[in-house]
Amino acid sequence: MISKNDIDKIFEAALIEEVVGDFVVLKKRGTNLLGLCPFHNEKTPSFTVSPAKGIYKCFGCGKAGNSVNFVMEHEHYSYPEALKYLARKYNIEIEEAEATPEQLIEENTKESLMVVSHFAWQFFTERLHHTDEGKSVGLSYLRQRGFRDDIIEKFGLGYSPDARDALYTSAVSVGHNPSFLEKTGLCIKKETAYIDRFRARVIFPIHNQTGRVIGFGGRALKKEEKAKYINSPESEIYNKSKVLYGLFFAKKSIIVNNNCFLVEGYTDVISFVQAGIENVVSSSGTSLTTEQIRLIKRFTNNITILYDGDAAGIKASFRGIDMILEEGMNVRVVLFPDGNDPDSYARMVSTEELKKYITENTQDFIRFKTNILNADVANDPIKKSELIKDIVTSVSCIPDPIYRSVYIKECASLLQAEEQALLSTLNRIRKERINKKVKQQGSNELEELPDTFVPVTTPANDGEPENHILEKDLIRILLSYGHKNITIEKTDERGLPAKFELPVAHYIINDLTNDEIELAHTLYSKMFCEYKSFTEQNKLPSEHYFTQHPDADICTAAVNIISQPYRLSDKWEKKNIFVVTEEDMLHKTVHQVLYALKLKEINKMLKDIEIEIKNTSNEEALFELLNKYKSIKDIQQELAEALGGRIILK
Ligand code: ATP
Ligand code: MN
Repeated sequence: MISKNDIDKIFEAALIEEVVGDFVVLKKRGTNLLGLCPFHNEKTPSFTVSPAKGIYKCFGCGKAGNSVNFVMEHEHYSYPEALKYLARKYNIEIEEAEATPEQLIEENTKESLMVVSHFAWQFFTERLHHTDEGKSVGLSYLRQRGFRDDIIEKFGLGYSPDARDALYTSAVSVGHNPSFLEKTGLCIKKETAYIDRFRARVIFPIHNQTGRVIGFGGRALKKEEKAKYINSPESEIYNKSKVLYGLFFAKKSIIVNNNCFLVEGYTDVISFVQAGIENVVSSSGTSLTTEQIRLIKRFTNNITILYDGDAAGIKASFRGIDMILEEGMNVRVVLFPDGNDPDSYARMVSTEELKKYITENTQDFIRFKTNILNADVANDPIKKSELIKDIVTSVSCIPDPIYRSVYIKECASLLQAEEQALLSTLNRIRKERINKKVKQQGSNELEELPDTFVPVTTPANDGEPENHILEKDLIRILLSYGHKNITIEKTDERGLPAKFELPVAHYIINDLTNDEIELAHTLYSKMFCEYKSFTEQNKLPSEHYFTQHPDADICTAAVNIISQPYRLSDKWEKKNIFVVTEEDMLHKTVHQVLYALKLKEINKMLKDIEIEIKNTSNEEALFELLNKYKSIKDIQQELAEALGGRIILK
């Protein structure tokens, strides 16, 4: 359990724009910040951060919350994990108390895996730099490869000794739990004993986006070792398909250069950074995934894939190109000279020559793919038509119709084919794909049907029934204007008219309590009651009390409610009457919502009485009921008049 006091401190320190800014590029837009939503795939930014309100909201997918929610959602952390993450980010010490051992285990597994990974990383770097074996075997290998000391330091490279269980023994001796060593894959359980996974290898730590070590790659140094590279297995903290090696170091440079180089492995990344090209990442050990592509897309729309000179792996990588195209990104390609990979080439030439080579040899994916495949075609017409289909299939992955038609033109000239023929092939492929999708998903989800279809981002409709909208509006007024004072005219004790000034919240709560009106919606009612308990102590909840509420439902509801721009009404908007803001009309707004709530209550009472009247045969009781009905009807009339015959619901 993290104390309330510590939670408050964390919320106070964790500025939403900074927390989100670690993962999303934000641009200033008025008083808010705007970026591409990290929770869904989009081309035009609809992810909004409000520093003033301390919240984020995506108007595309509807995700919303405060800084803690953001970390929970983004990193898949639990509430306490997210708090701890932020505490670490802002150097806030937290005291943990009263957690049961079970809770601690559950909350802390991921954190423990991170901690044990951090320990292992320190162990490996210590062995590399401060032991004879590390220096003579590991460090000398890295230096001989041409890695500078500052680069070895920057990437945190290490050395794992040529011993059965050096890491295991060292970790356990300082109290690390063997099960965490096993879960991270750092050690492997063999019957009764544990052995280290990485033995006699140089170590490449893998960082997550916030710079913490979550996994490792190890390169063998012994000739007889069969596997040149081995990697950490998947674990609760290391999900290979969602990690890009080097991204933590590359982020800023990717933004500045508006491009990301994609290479094969650890050594390519490191050699490029050493040569001064820092916008480089690799998907070490796995083929490229959509998740990885989307990681890059948060920072740029442009990817340049760098290929080894030997063509063996290239055809296998074409699928990766199509996946990038599908994300609506631009793909370019650089092919290194025969026998060279990005790493060896970067080491062989000067930085200037490397940059020059890249500039001069960057090709469009289509030219690249055509050239590679053309080599096999010769004059075989069947092969040629297969080639055309292959290239057009790639083009068909591009979501933007304008880009597609540009590429079809280029394709036509490269392949000396009729543009019209290519277009009809393209359309056939797209139609086939859509049909397949429809069959898979059911006919309603035509995500990408014809070119004329333009997806519109509309705020997610929360699908609430009408009568809850009113209660939601009440909560909105409490959250947004509860602190504001309004002036109420009333008669004083002597029966003379007098003016009173009091906070909106007090007025609303007194009024509803006096009339014994309760909210029907469970969540809004809960929020109302909490608000009420503040006013009963003559206090008002702080501005962020609800948007930072530990109850996730309350927190989400609060964030959604206050992030919704208030609209007066369509009619007014059409007449261009924008002069009065809701705040200017606070008095009216408050009364309207109160009247409307009461009117709703009254209507319900009237319905109940009507039913009673129908079911009563006793004359006297009937008379009573009719009287009651009449007086309530009068109140209804009064309220309706006070509302001016118009209830603003939204
Ligand atoms: P060499 O010195 O023989 O060239 P290398 O260490 O440069 O060896 P390569 O075989 O050239 O390794 O591989 C190039 C890149 O591919 C390396 O940076 C490495 O990170 C990556 N790589 C190769 N195999 C794997 C693997 N199994 N898992 C992860 N990365 C790998
Ligand atoms: Mn190599």
